Amino acid sequence: MKQVSLHDVHAIDVHAHPFVENPTPYSVQEFVRKLSLSVIPNHVSDEHVAGKYKPFPGVNMWMQILVQRLSRFLRCEPTLVDVVNSRNALAADFKKYTRDLFADAKLTGIVADFGYPMPMLDRADFAELCGARIWEIHRIEPVMVQLRTECASFGEFSERYRANLRAALQKPNVVGLKSIIAYRSGLEIGELDESAARDEYPAFQANDRAVAKAFRDYCIHVAMEECTAADKVMHIHTGVGDGEVVLPKASPSFLISMLRDKKYADTKVHLVHGGYPWVEEAAFIASILPNVYMDISLQNPFAGHGVKRLLAQVFEFAPFDKVMYGSDAFTVPEMNWIGVHLFKECFEQVLNEWIAADYMNQETAQWIGEMVLYRNFETVYKKYL
Ligand SMILES: [Zn+2]
Repeated sequence: MKQVSLHDVHAIDVHAHPFVENPTPYSVQEFVRKLSLSVIPNHVSDEHVAGKYKPFPGVNMWMQILVQRLSRFLRCEPTLVDVVNSRNALAADFKKYTRDLFADAKLTGIVADFGYPMPMLDRADFAELCGARIWEIHRIEPVMVQLRTECASFGEFSERYRANLRAALQKPNVVGLKSIIAYRSGLEIGELDESAARDEYPAFQANDRAVAKAFRDYCIHVAMEECTAADKVMHIHTGVGDGEVVLPKASPSFLISMLRDKKYADTKVHLVHGGYPWVEEAAFIASILPNVYMDISLQNPFAGHGVKRLLAQVFEFAPFDKVMYGSDAFTVPEMNWIGVHLFKECFEQVLNEWIAADYMNQETAQWIGEMVLYRNFETVYKKYL
């Protein structure tokens, strides 16, 4: 039976973050912390006794897989200590190390969310560091936070906020806007209500982390309108994220009323992280709404051995042309690297099972693999390439 191979297929990552070189080599503890989604600093207790094969505190399956796979690339023993030492030695020439990892994974482009880390990194610098094409996503929340200190009235805020988004969307490298409202007031977005937003503006002025739900809902509606007018893509964080997410209101189903609204029928919406762990909800929404897409970032690679299960689950409902590759890599280039390799390895297994089950032939399966890795990106984002 002919098998699918994704090894030589290049990848475009539709959701990841820029990063910079660490000024000093990482300790094992620092490296583990860089791999963690937790925003709460975790300190290893004094009672921890190290052991060569004993898992380091906080290490979970995805980190274990990273260590195991990276030890082959680095040609060292598959232990966390050896991997950290070997990567630190190569990372002394950080640009070369980063470019080697990107080249090994055939990662040729990233749609980068410059909203993290803050202060914002420079697009050209990041492109030079990794040797890949970098497109930019303009996040709305930092704009809101900055304008709140500069605009005395809601009227002034509203005008300058819209102008900022409009100007950003006109830049050739900016492919869309992004909101992390799931981290603030949740995804249950109400109708646009300007007067309620105006009433809540003082609360937001006083505290940029205030819930101010009507105000935040207003801001995402404006972003949706501007994306529609510019024919660019609205990215919305869905599902789990770092430790701050409003988990009870983070599932994509909360978005459905807004997404079904007739005025957004032509708006391209990209559900970032595919709603993990509610991936079937995102897949269902992408299957019923023609302009809604999803990516598999974060669930891949952070679900570790679960990536294979998740890919099979996503395609229970999602059309093949609605799902794009992503990683949500955010601190070290090894994340970008393992994201591609783990995805390819898991999706090959899924696709080969579909061939074995006589659901499709090898040629169709190969095509589907390529759609997720880069072809769907080229179709959805074709105007801005
Ligand atoms: Zn992200």
